[in-house]
Amino acid sequence: MAIWVGVDDTDSRKGGCTTYVAAVLLRRLGNVGVEVMGYPRLIRLNPNCPYKTRGNAAVALKLDTSDLDLVKRLTIKVVEEYSELDEGAETGIILLRGEPPQKLREFYWKAVREIVPIEEAFVIAEDIGAEVVYYGDGKGLVGALAAIGADLSPGKTYELIAHRAREYWGMVRRVDPASIYEMDEATREYTFDNVDYETGDIKITPHTPCPVLLGVRGIDPGVLKKAFEMLRIGEPVEYVTIFETNQATDVHYQRCRIRDLRDCLNAIVEGTVSEAPRREIGGHVFFRINDGEGELTCAAYEPTKSFRDIIMQLTPGDEVTVYGAVKLKPQGLTLNLEKIQVRKLARKVFSRPPLCPDCGKRMKSLGSGKGYKCRKCGKRVGKEAVDVVEVPRELQIGFYEVTPAARRHLVKPLDLSL
Ligand SMILES: [Zn+2]
Repeated sequence: MAIWVGVDDTDSRKGGCTTYVAAVLLRRLGNVGVEVMGYPRLIRLNPNCPYKTRGNAAVALKLDTSDLDLVKRLTIKVVEEYSELDEGAETGIILLRGEPPQKLREFYWKAVREIVPIEEAFVIAEDIGAEVVYYGDGKGLVGALAAIGADLSPGKTYELIAHRAREYWGMVRRVDPASIYEMDEATREYTFDNVDYETGDIKITPHTPCPVLLGVRGIDPGVLKKAFEMLRIGEPVEYVTIFETNQATDVHYQRCRIRDLRDCLNAIVEGTVSEAPRREIGGHVFFRINDGEGELTCAAYEPTKSFRDIIMQLTPGDEVTVYGAVKLKPQGLTLNLEKIQVRKLARKVFSRPPLCPDCGKRMKSLGSGKGYKCRKCGKRVGKEAVDVVEVPRELQIGFYEVTPAARRHLVKPLDLSL
């Protein structure tokens, strides 16, 4: 029988990293003959969660052993060595014998889509007979449970994470940017988010003082290894670990009617543009949609870059499906756009006086509903003679997404096929 161990909330704003704890733990376990079955897991939870640290990531390992006490002892040791417990990390550890029960799968779906109170974690842990170890209030237990329960059947991706030798933590990362572009070029069909070509940002190296040197995301573990070998790295690498993950799988979204939206949900909402987009100070763009029962403000903030130019082309009457994070703002619930599907374009028209049927001059309006009169020859026509001009739409039907630098971990890039 296998043993699962899940760990979450080991980092603080100052540093630390749950993936590092996993990397150390799986090697220490290997040293005493306990092997990981399959890939270690890196699981992202609801990115809207107000108490998240940085990435809101939890880890879980499935181990080929029945010695729960050994796993527990080693996990506690690694957590106490590497968790930022003095800096406020409220690490949670979960140990479970056998396969995760259905209840735990449901718990994962709730944790990735909504906010789970810590009390629920204690209740379910007891319910499924899991062992619990925690520090502080044990906030990390939610993620530790969810990482074990994670249902990756709707799709999964992989991330190769290289960790730095301790003496380099906090220093500038030495990875040759040119080699990152070359790697992206060579592996692009199987990797994603290496580089943001619009902003010029390198996406594989973080900017935090954490132990992660780099992370390459992709859909094929074999290609990730090759991609890593292409990188020219100017510092020692301590560990290279490939995780399976729920990143880039859109699992955080729920289809909702506007009246059912709440703060912190990640929603997919269908509606009709009811208020034209406007660009505000700071470059943020806002518009409103209506689904027949309610109205919702949608926002494309400045970091979404050229995505805003697409949004600015929307016009009232366009039928759209919006994807994003719902936040409670002073103006009411606002959906921060991550993707949009333009399903149907409204006709964009304007009206003007017709040409005179006798002399061809543009006529003059006699006032609302009173028809038109020719200034040159005096001819009169009724209001039905109005000249309706169709404005060509530049916007095309289809899907659009924010620039990679503004994309959150769980959002699936449009050109990624899993
Ligand atoms: Zn005329």
